[in-house]
Amino acid sequence: MENDCIFCKIANKEIESELLYESDNLVVFRDINPKAPVHLLIVPKRHIRSINDLDNKKDKEILAEMLFTAKDMAKKEDVNESGYRLQFNVEKGGGQEVFHLHMHLIGG
Ligand code: 5GP
Ligand code: ZN
Repeated sequence: MENDCIFCKIANKEIESELLYESDNLVVFRDINPKAPVHLLIVPKRHIRSINDLDNKKDKEILAEMLFTAKDMAKKEDVNESGYRLQFNVEKGGGQEVFHLHMHLIGG
């Protein structure tokens, strides 16, 4: 847990937020500023700063869980057939504003 990290606080329930899904390793909630009718954030509970900080060995499972959770959430939100985008913004030049790893699921 990183001090002053908004996504750590949401994952640790220090900030109240409606969680659409939770496992031991990650949480899913709606983006506060949605860019489409369905805009979810899939967020590991463990603080990982960005894609650049992923460890080839240690982080394989969390990445796989993020992708499979996205697939399941797309179905729950009924955008699996109409289609959706999965997006990582990486570092400032890539549009990253929150430096706690997250995947956007955008559709509808
Ligand atoms: P990034 O640009 O870092 O990839 O995306 C960060 C996303 O987090 C933005 O789309 C922004 O709207 C969302 N966001 C930032 N702060 C909060 C928050 O406190 N709660 C929620 N639900 N979303 C947030
Ligand atoms: Zn964090």
